[in-house]
Amino acid sequence: MTPSTETRTSIVWDYAPAPESSDHIRLRGRYGLFVDGDFKDPVDGRYVPTINPATEEPIAEVAYGGPDDVAAAVESARAAHPKWAALPELERAKYLFRIARLIQERARELAVVETLDGGKPLRESRDVDIPLAAAHFFHYAGWADKLRYGVNAREVKPLGVVGQIVPWNFPLLMAAWKLAPALACGNVAILKPAETTPLTALLLAEICQEAELPAGVVTILPGDGSTGAALVRAPGVDKVAFTGSTAVGRDIQAALAGSGVRLTLELGGKSANIVFEDAALDQAVEGIVNGIFFNQGHVCCAGSRLLIQESVRDEVISKLWARMGRLRVGDPMDKNTDVGAINSAEQLARIEALVAAGEEEGAARRSIACELPERGYWFAPTLFTDVSPAHRIAVEEIFGPVVSVLTFRTQAEAIEKANNSRYGLAAGIWTDKGSKAFEVASALKAGVVWQNTYNHFDPTAAFGGYKESGFGREGGPAGLRPYLEVVR
Ligand code: NAD
Ligand code: MN
Repeated sequence: MTPSTETRTSIVWDYAPAPESSDHIRLRGRYGLFVDGDFKDPVDGRYVPTINPATEEPIAEVAYGGPDDVAAAVESARAAHPKWAALPELERAKYLFRIARLIQERARELAVVETLDGGKPLRESRDVDIPLAAAHFFHYAGWADKLRYGVNAREVKPLGVVGQIVPWNFPLLMAAWKLAPALACGNVAILKPAETTPLTALLLAEICQEAELPAGVVTILPGDGSTGAALVRAPGVDKVAFTGSTAVGRDIQAALAGSGVRLTLELGGKSANIVFEDAALDQAVEGIVNGIFFNQGHVCCAGSRLLIQESVRDEVISKLWARMGRLRVGDPMDKNTDVGAINSAEQLARIEALVAAGEEEGAARRSIACELPERGYWFAPTLFTDVSPAHRIAVEEIFGPVVSVLTFRTQAEAIEKANNSRYGLAAGIWTDKGSKAFEVASALKAGVVWQNTYNHFDPTAAFGGYKESGFGREGGPAGLRPYLEVVR
């Protein structure tokens, strides 16, 4: 389909290559486990290379913790906890402020390493991931001496040792979401980064050293699912915080049932992005693009179900398809790239399987024409129309640059369709009418609802899900609650 009208301007810009250099980064060839304040060889683990998904080249070798490593990590964390918890709150805050400032100081390096290890465009790691990670530490540093106001209690105390498991889509940012509130509340933390993206967490370990954080307060324990599973089940862990797939979340919940170990889960989503006929459509199209193509769609709250009011369906789709044609897919290190590499071969296979299911079930697929590099993992931005609510691509999380379009006629139908999901993480509403946005937002079963924007993150705002998207909130004062016990 050729677009009937051009949006805003008909000038098509061409760009010269604008690669960021990686000369300035200082990576070791090999990273051990960061336990007890230092990098250590694994006791019963092994070393595994982490690769750059845009080139398939290895970047560094990283230790994977085995069961004995997990036990040693918990022992060191337990030993560190009493002193850390007893520090005056303002002293704890100082460490967090230091970490935040060191992240800012090393921002360029962290952004490059994030992009090399995970495949996301440098523009995003530089402008979103790293600044927001620093902002989370700043935010919770500010809370450290005001905890009881955050949870409306007279007296609070930390839980102890927390085990935290994060995914590969926002590696440093998710580490910050987990560590900053835990430490501010007086807990010590053991963080397990994801298999494909351990490097920025290991640089954060160096930052903890530079900040002279006492040994054992932060442990970085790279590894695979078995390391995560051992950490969850380790005696001496008081609380588990997990972000990742619903399947693993379920496994963790079953493992901890009845144990008294606290748990928060931030799982998947199939979030509805709802465009009403009275919306500013050009602006909505930008929001749709940002909602699903940001970070290759590897976003738990991605606006992967696009709900368009029937009266503007053709116009929105034509504008969207024209806009998609302008997306620059390719080298994540190029500053003009919009869509980078798919994070791993496994994730690419999952996306391909679900897209194939969409075609088999009868939806109409369009993928933009773009030249993809020969090596690495890539998927062209894709739009599905003629989608029925029962199709797998309308129900299951694809976690890739693929948007499924559904339509609605009335506001009530929009709400019903948006809520017709086993997930409930986020939603977007595009309308010119404030009252309508308010009414619809109140009726949506979603933890975050954006109005006339999408994928907008701020450390002061709570984030979390309903239903199979998990429970517990991260960010803002609500993010303190899972890391504190109210004494009275
Ligand atoms: P995953 O849930 O397997 O991995 C997330 C983290 O959990 C990783 O650190 C992993 O090592 C760890 N882990 C794996 N098995 C574990 C276990 N049994 N116990 C404890 N920890 C364990 O996710 P994935 O396989 O990388 O991705 C699969 C799908 O999950 C994706 O396609 C996407 O739909 C979804 N996902 C969602 C998010 C999110 O932010 N909500 C993030 C990543 C993936
Ligand atoms: Mn990698």
